[in-house]
Amino acid sequence: MAITPSNSVARALVWFRRDLRVSDHPALARALREAGSVWCVFILDREILAGLPARDRRVAFIRASLADLDDQVAALAGRPGRHLIVRHAAAEDEIPRLAAELDVQAVYFHRDDDPAARARDARVYERLRADGRAMHGFKDHVLFERREILTGAGTPYGVFTPYKNAWLKALHARPELLGDCGSDIDGSALAEAPRGPWQAGAAVPALAEFGFETDPDGTPADAGLRPGTTGGEALLDEFVDRLDDYDDARDFPARPGPSHLGVHLRFGTLSLRRLVRLASQRVVGGSRGAQTWLSELVWRDFYHQVLFHHPHVVHQAYRADCNDLRWEQGPQADALFAAWCAGRTGYPLVDAGMRQLNASGYMHNRLRMVTASFLTKDLGLSWQRGEAYFARQLNDYELASNNGGWQWAASTGCDAQPWFRIFNPVTQSERFDPQGAFIRRWVPELAALQGKAIHAPWTARPGELEAAGVVLERDYPRPVVDHDLARARTLERFGARGSGAPTGVVAA
Ligand SMILES: Cc1cc2nc3c(=O)[nH]c(=O)nc-3n(C[C@H](O)[C@H](O)[C@H](O)COP(=O)(O)OP(=O)(O)OC[C@H]3O[C@@H](n4cnc5c(N)ncnc54)[C@H](O)[C@@H]3O)c2cc1C
Repeated sequence: MAITPSNSVARALVWFRRDLRVSDHPALARALREAGSVWCVFILDREILAGLPARDRRVAFIRASLADLDDQVAALAGRPGRHLIVRHAAAEDEIPRLAAELDVQAVYFHRDDDPAARARDARVYERLRADGRAMHGFKDHVLFERREILTGAGTPYGVFTPYKNAWLKALHARPELLGDCGSDIDGSALAEAPRGPWQAGAAVPALAEFGFETDPDGTPADAGLRPGTTGGEALLDEFVDRLDDYDDARDFPARPGPSHLGVHLRFGTLSLRRLVRLASQRVVGGSRGAQTWLSELVWRDFYHQVLFHHPHVVHQAYRADCNDLRWEQGPQADALFAAWCAGRTGYPLVDAGMRQLNASGYMHNRLRMVTASFLTKDLGLSWQRGEAYFARQLNDYELASNNGGWQWAASTGCDAQPWFRIFNPVTQSERFDPQGAFIRRWVPELAALQGKAIHAPWTARPGELEAAGVVLERDYPRPVVDHDLARARTLERFGARGSGAPTGVVAA
């Protein structure tokens, strides 16, 4: 049965942000239910875009996803015409201005708990309120937000497993949370958009029209990066066939284990509820892969609530006793950082991960852990430097998960890796890329190396490097640090922080 508008609001504006789809879209569904005329807008926010390089994969992804969204909105409206409004402006000025131009009574949107987004939304709210307009926020980006999952004492969880158990229990108690709120909406209230400033009257501008460049070949660098709901659906279709194997395959970067759906969750081109529903159904059917994948989605909610309750993590360690850690600084540290960024540390698995990131904007989760551990515990550099680099490079960059992941690896975070647990980049390589297939793909200068030397070329037996045509320092660097010495320094660094000695020092 189609839900028809109740017309309790004559005119409404739906503000799309990180939710670039029309299906299962709570804010759009509610606006269409309540209003007689509904406009849809996306703001290419000058304040955010100004800080990005002229060629940015995520901006290209957003632009292409907007074109996809425009098609979806038109299909929902059920008639041709211009329906999506796209503006290049400061969102906090443009939303109140557009709301006044269209004379809407209310703006509908999905909440975003990144501290900067919350502050911006509060300012928009005040300006709309001053004009006599309402702003209605809905949950979409996570399954449980803010104070929905608390301990029995009413405090936020600081440990993942009990949080996950509480999360699963809450979902079990409220299965309706996974209901699709968009399959039966009537889009006839979608109104014709005012003419925009873009060439040929297009709804969505070309990249150049708002100051960005296309990729040299016009396509995103990563074959897995397919924009829009259309792209997300195609990726999901492929992934569901492998979901049951996720548990076995996910840790091996040379295997097609993970879903690559992070970027679609980041920009909301797929609905999180839909993915949780899919995983939950498979869990009921006994799939171990689905169970582990669902856990990963719970980690995502976990880090979002950490950020909400502890916004200090944006600039500081979650654990106050880690703020005085003495990370390496100065020209030598800068040179090591540059080698790490470029994928030239001399540790092949670390370099392969960094080169995958630089070339595609994606990095496999195992390698995010290995490279982050290497930066903080082998190079002794602050997690903030790595966090900022990932933030610039990752297609699926999310403040909450990136910060959580970095603080986990650096042992400064919430339910983090214990500080005395230090990944050995060579044994990680032997374990998770046993044949060196991933290394050979991303570090081609080592491709001809045989056997174990692929994991640690400086340990090659006489003749092995020559046979592979590799000269260390000429073709590939020697290790920039000695892992055993670096490990000892890290244990000292954390020990000096005065949080007590470990009961047992563990190698990973
Ligand atoms: C140092 C570091 C930085 C990270 N930065 C980010 C980031 O900026 N954005 C981001 O989405 N994830 C981040 N992660 C978590 C994880 O690595 C990625 O979510 C995952 O690799 C994305 O690939 P996928 O979509 O193929 O994941 P899949 O393995 O298919 O997982 C499905 C989804 O679950 C969520 N997820 C999986 N693992 C985690 C996790 N550990 N924490 C939170 N959510 C998770 C993601 O939304 C992911 O898309 C980071 C991890 C580390 C160690």
